[in-house]
Parts: sequence; structure tokens; C-alpha cells
Amino acid sequence: MSLQYRTGLQDIPSYDAAPERIWGIQINANECNMPMPPLVEERVLTRLSRVAFNRYPNEQYADLVEQIAKNFRLQSDQILIGSGSSEIIEKLFYCFGGSPEKKIVYPDPSFSMYHIYAKAAQATAVEVPLEADMTLDIDKFVSAVVDNQASLAVICNPNNPTGTVLSVSDIQYIADNIPESTAFLVDEAYVEFYGKSATGLLKDYPNLIIARTFSKAYGLAATRVGYMLASRAITDMIGKAYMPYHMNTLSLVTADICYQMRQEFVPHIQIMISERKRMAEQVKQLKGFAVYPSETNFLLVHNNDIDGLIERLEANDIGVRKFGKDSRLADCVRISMGTREENDTWYAVCKAFSEGRA
Ligand SMILES: *Cc1c(COP(=O)(O)O)cnc(C)c1O
Repeated sequence: MSLQYRTGLQDIPSYDAAPERIWGIQINANECNMPMPPLVEERVLTRLSRVAFNRYPNEQYADLVEQIAKNFRLQSDQILIGSGSSEIIEKLFYCFGGSPEKKIVYPDPSFSMYHIYAKAAQATAVEVPLEADMTLDIDKFVSAVVDNQASLAVICNPNNPTGTVLSVSDIQYIADNIPESTAFLVDEAYVEFYGKSATGLLKDYPNLIIARTFSKAYGLAATRVGYMLASRAITDMIGKAYMPYHMNTLSLVTADICYQMRQEFVPHIQIMISERKRMAEQVKQLKGFAVYPSETNFLLVHNNDIDGLIERLEANDIGVRKFGKDSRLADCVRISMGTREENDTWYAVCKAFSEGRA
């Protein structure tokens, strides 16, 4: 007997980030490896103890929206909150997809989920290959968008998994040269490590959409909270795709307090940035290793014997992000920055590997 699933569901690849194993050193998902700042944690726990579990999360949603709006000097109706920026991105693909005539353009390699969301939305994915050095030729990207009359163009900036960036003027160049009828999503999941955001362009480009997350720099991956900023015309339409009360109060109040206290996270972010710089410098010196320039909390590391390296790391209970054999990143691993001590540990394994020691 075969069940009558939705057309195309069979061809959607399964989500590959589900952990097959919990590692002693978990540096495969770009999580923050530091606990919440104690002052923030105390406030969060107190607030959680006062949650009205019998009520739908109306007020708490509005409170977080209002805070975000204030910070960006936007109207509240220009903001949507999602269950992670994953939900936001998935909804955008859904809303700008729906049939193969809808083309969604994004670079490759980039966030692996874009491919899956495009398929799930029954849209046609148009991937623009990055150059050999993993930078994006913005003219090639613009041409792909224009030639395909894309419904949605997506740039991840800084880019996961390469760590590379476009400048705000590059983003503006793309916005200036793609049709107004193409929605333009900039996924800023790692922007806190880069410091340069395209949010300033929102007022001039009604087709621009920015997605942000609390999962990476703010270390709230467990709560699943992200948000998008756009013109009201866009949020009105995308808002239709969400279920009522899709965000839960526990996550909303936690994110709300972390956002109010975001200054407390600045030292954490600075540590992650300085660790990334320190590790990039060290890994670069190792024989057989190359590192792509990164403005994130992770490094994309190249080695000709990638299987050997991964085997050695895993034997030491260190979990890193691997890429498929048919991927352009087949000879790379992505390593998220852990604590200083964790970083010293994985580096020591890499060093021993490069020197041919067991
Ligand atoms: C991690 C990540 C996201 C999604 O994170 P959420 O936890 O769903 O908020 C989105 N885009 C990129 C590029 C990411 O790396």
C-alpha cells in the first residue's frame, strides 16, 4: 500500500543537521558555546516563573515586536517574529514559491536549507556559483535574478558556510539592479559578528527583507526565535502564511529579556570574534590547511585529506560540520568557535594531524 503524499514531498531531502550523536566538543552547528550571562539568566528565570500558561501569547508577541521596532526605528507592522529565522525563511520561500514558474535565486555554496525550502515550496531554485575563492560575483548574481525574473533573491550575509561577506554597498548595488518585482531577502544570521547590516536600506527599497535570529550571537538556539524586517506591504502578505499563535510565550519572554539586556551579550560576541581571529591565524600556519576569511563565529577549513582529518577529530569526540562528496565543499569542514579551551583542543588535534602524529 502506498500513501498519497503531497506531490514532490518524496524528492525533498531530509534535514541533515539533526545530530546523529552528542559530541564532547560540539562545534558543528554554529551555536554559542557559552552559557547565558548570569544577570540575564536570573531575569529570564524569574520572568518564566510568572508565565500565565493558560493564555495565548498575544501581549508577549506584541512586546517583543515593539522593542525590535523601536531599536530599528521602524513601525511595529514592519516586523514579523518566527520560530527561528528558519520559519521566516521557509515562509518567504513558500510565499514567493508555489509553482515551478517561480524562480528563487541564491548563491551556492550558501545556507543548505535554501535548497530544501525551494523544493518544499515547489519553486525552481536557481543557484549562482561562488567564485573559486568563495566570493560572490554580484554582477553574475544580478544577471541571474534579471534573466529569470526571479520572485525571490536571497543573499546570506555573512555567508554560511563560507564565512565570507558582501559590503553594504554591494547589497545596495544588487538592490539597485534587480527588478522591483523581485523580493530581496538578506539573511543576517551572523551579522552581530560582522557589524555591518543592510537594515539601513529598508527605507529606500520596499522589496528588501532582512532576517535575523537569536540563535547564534545571542545563544538562544533552544528558544527558536528569529524575526524579519520589511515594508508593511510585505509583512501583511507573509503574515498570512503563519498559524495564529505560532510563537509560544516561553520563547517570546525569554527573547524579550535578552533583547532588553543585549548589552550583556556584547562581551560574549567579542570573545567569539577574537577566538575566530586567533584560530584563523593558527590554523593558517598548519601545513596542508587553508582557511577562508570569515566574519562569523565559524571557520571554513580546507584540507586535502578531509576524511582523515574528520576521522581524527571525531575520534577525539569533536563534532564538526561535514559536507557531501558532491558538494563544492567536499574538501572542507566548518568549525564553529567554542570556548577558548575547546578551541585549543580541536586545534591540537589539527596540529597533530598536520604533523603526521597519531
Ligand atoms: C542558523 C541559521 C539560520 C536559522 O537559525 P534559526 O535558529 O532558525 O533562527 C538562518 N540562516 C542561516 C544562514 C543560519 O546559519
